[in-house]
Amino acid sequence: MTDTRGRLNIDAGPGQWNLSGSIDETSGLTELLARAQGGLLVLDLAGVTFINSLGVRDWIRMQSEAGRQHIAIELRRVSEPIIHQLNMIIGTRGNSRVASFFAPYACDACGREESLLIDVAANAVGLANLVAPAMPCPECGAQMAFNDFPERYFSFLVPETPRPG
Ligand SMILES: [Zn+2]
Repeated sequence: MTDTRGRLNIDAGPGQWNLSGSIDETSGLTELLARAQGGLLVLDLAGVTFINSLGVRDWIRMQSEAGRQHIAIELRRVSEPIIHQLNMIIGTRGNSRVASFFAPYACDACGREESLLIDVAANAVGLANLVAPAMPCPECGAQMAFNDFPERYFSFLVPETPRPG
């Protein structure tokens, strides 16, 4: 059964909650923490297509409340709009760990552009060096090129360095 809050849909998946639609001030993200199991909340964000500035504020509130309640958040299949927020606003990362995420690729051979899923653990070494994993084109099989700046797009994976003082 789909739980709809504003323009966001929440569906139960195996051991996770699948979010789809848009995140805004009506999403009530903090209430999702009540759905954590054993101190872990797992969110699948593949279907999230948009987040507005009030949604970002709500998201940050969810992260800080998760910290207070000692709830870890695992983010799976994070969509590109959410990755952009994680990169721009450090407060959106909070207590969460990204397990996998979508990234933009383009094929020089056939022109296809596609958002492809990257598993963080499987590509840990390359990502730590800000190298995009090689991906075959689903259309023609040629190797696709990463279609953003790796140092920008992967910056959410780089741990924050605590500032001295
Ligand atoms: Zn191609």
